Amino acid sequence: VAKDAGRSRWEVYHDVYRRDALRRLSVETELRTAIDRGQFLLHYQPVVELDTRRTVAHEALVRWMHPRRGLLLPGEFVQIAEESDLINGIGGWVLREAVEFLARHPELPGKVYINVSPRQLGRGTPATDDRDAGLAPLVEQVLRANDVPASRLGIEITENGVLQATEQTREDLEQLAALGVELLLDDFGTGFSALTSVLSTPVSGLKLDRSFTVRLGDGAACDRISTAIAALVDSLSSHGVVEGIETEKQWALALGHGWTHGQGWLFGHAVAESALFPVVDTSF
Ligand code: C2E
Ligand code: MG
Ligand code: MG
Ligand code: MG
Repeated sequence: VAKDAGRSRWEVYHDVYRRDALRRLSVETELRTAIDRGQFLLHYQPVVELDTRRTVAHEALVRWMHPRRGLLLPGEFVQIAEESDLINGIGGWVLREAVEFLARHPELPGKVYINVSPRQLGRGTPATDDRDAGLAPLVEQVLRANDVPASRLGIEITENGVLQATEQTREDLEQLAALGVELLLDDFGTGFSALTSVLSTPVSGLKLDRSFTVRLGDGAACDRISTAIAALVDSLSSHGVVEGIETEKQWALALGHGWTHGQGWLFGHAVAESALFPVVDTSF
């Protein structure tokens, strides 16, 4: 870059790294107070049955209403939260909020799925006194406190999260499954997956990542892989959801390949509770 001419390469890199480190530090500091200040919210994206396009479930996606920067998507803060352990507090908030949402809307069709980071599994969260309790006891407690059956809640954990799983993580997942909470493998197809390790986890379905969906129709190989994964999912009697469907063509291809469920902007964006349940104005 011209304006950097005359400066050593080291100085330029140094500046970039310092800016990045400072930005991360300020996000981390602000994240620490964000829960207390009520700055998080959930948006809910419909999951549809592909052939009828009926909504059969919702995925809860966290957003941060930042006082200066506005509404931030998880890409801006989830990784930083995971690296600093703040993810346990945020994850606990997400769980409570989603379960309270379920309690407020008993007529809502299907489950609500929350996303859980690997760091929330197999260990204590700030919400439980027992540091080694894990996520399952917390989920059980929150469901019970809100009188919501476990069958209405689903948990998504990334393929990479499962690959990193320790013995404690697996036990936690077993306990969650035993509660009757459905577990889904998220972002399937992104990592290079040790298939046996993934398939020996008690998940009841998988979600094909959007990076795969955008390539549907790209060529025979992509379509055959998609068809094969859909058949594998079906033969294991699990659920398959195709993420990020934006076009009619992608919908038709996914359906043609044998997938049963999908999610994406073609069917609906993630919207606030107030948009899902508009307040009816009865004042006139
Ligand atoms: P994900 O779980 O794979 O969620 C799907 C992401 O794709 C969401 O982005 C969603 O808004 C977006 N999306 C859905 N349909 C379409 C589409 O048709 N086109 C495009 N371009 N995008 C689509 P979002 O909300 O930014 O979330 C990103 C990721 O952040 C999520 O990926 C999930 O891994 C993570 N995340 C979200 N909420 C939470 C949470 O509460 N806890 C944790 N640990 N992670 C979360
Ligand atoms: Mg997800
Ligand atoms: Mg996903
Ligand atoms: Mg994804």
